[in-house]
Amino acid sequence: MRVYIHTHGCRLNAAESRFFAEALESRGHEIARAMDGAVDCAIVNSCAVTAQAESKCKQTLRQIVRAHPDVLLVVTGCLAEKNPHPLLDFHRRILVLGNAEKHRVADYLERHDMSKNSSEIVHKSIGNASFSLPCLLDRPCSGRYNLKIQEGCDFGCAYCIIPRLRGRARSRDFRNLVEDAAVHVARGVKEIILTGINVGIYRDGSKNLADVIAELGAIPGLARIRLSSIEFGTIGDEILSQMADPESKLVKYLHMPIQSGSDRILLLMGRRYGIAAVWRYLEGVAKKIPGIGLGTDLMVGFPGESERDFECSMELLEGSPLQYAHIFSYSPRDGTAARAMEAQWVDRREIGRRSEVLRAVSREKHRQFLEQQVGKCEKVLFEDPGKSGFGGFTEHYVKVLVKNSAEDLRNQIRKVRLVENCGTFLLGEL
Ligand code: SF4
Repeated sequence: MRVYIHTHGCRLNAAESRFFAEALESRGHEIARAMDGAVDCAIVNSCAVTAQAESKCKQTLRQIVRAHPDVLLVVTGCLAEKNPHPLLDFHRRILVLGNAEKHRVADYLERHDMSKNSSEIVHKSIGNASFSLPCLLDRPCSGRYNLKIQEGCDFGCAYCIIPRLRGRARSRDFRNLVEDAAVHVARGVKEIILTGINVGIYRDGSKNLADVIAELGAIPGLARIRLSSIEFGTIGDEILSQMADPESKLVKYLHMPIQSGSDRILLLMGRRYGIAAVWRYLEGVAKKIPGIGLGTDLMVGFPGESERDFECSMELLEGSPLQYAHIFSYSPRDGTAARAMEAQWVDRREIGRRSEVLRAVSREKHRQFLEQQVGKCEKVLFEDPGKSGFGGFTEHYVKVLVKNSAEDLRNQIRKVRLVENCGTFLLGEL
């Protein structure tokens, strides 16, 4: 079967889509790089974190079905988990697969009757047990690998629908994830990104996240380990020491979703920290690990957010060592505590205005950070070439472009002199 996989949403969804691809390839199916007339099955790995994310997924479903009316459509991921039945209306040949069974997508596809129009929903309850995933890779690969180590969350933040869609926090079997990493590195991967919903609370028996980093660090051929987004308050001193250690493979980069600079809003959100602790932590980390890359997510328009609360977020972004922020708007989600705070919703236009102001601050902070990199020599892990040259990322997750290289830089880590700030990326020379 020829299968196209389209991924929406977070890094964990990307990790899971890669798992689907490897599972299907190991059974002899072919993965198409783009949707075309020869595709038998399109899998859409969906997202439902915001209303906007949902509507983008639905748009993808419509586009696929309009252009390829005979394709078998598989919808999996968070939208399939949240609201499976209305998805049947999108197509006459459709399989809707909830999150509990998504890792068995290859089984379900092979079992599905391909000969006729049929629709099916597979929606089972999500368990609480730790998990293992088979490593099914049987071809060379390269670059960065999102390694799934954790799933679900118990924190119960007031705005967040993720615990409902992905279940309670659970961790991947320690030996199983190390084996998976080792196979991918042996096949060519240079960087592993530890991925989950709440990776900081990883635990399998006595093993925690620092143990995962230490064990992966011993894999020969692996150059870098990176943490994906990690919750404030879950990053132990041991991890910071690993990051500060010049011998460690753990890169100097932290993305912590702080969400708001206002204590009042953090409390309403059910976040587990006050903003003074965040300021202290960011300043301490910047001192302990000079040059560390620091990013965050900030939500705009949580119910009841006043102008003063918004200013607190702006002060945090402007005044702290944070170098950029992903800004997103509050989106009411059914089944969350914040959904009931309807009376305090912030006007949509005002949310748009505040978001633009914060984005401008983030762009300027990031520009300043890039400016500080100019003149330095950094190691860059290069990816497949684009039209303008070879692009890649430094340890600090700065994008670097090398134009006109006579050499094939794909999947190489090379020292690059950073010569020019282009606003969102840097130009470099080998
Ligand atoms: S920590 Fe909060 S925001 Fe993050 S996934 Fe868990 S409940 Fe959602």
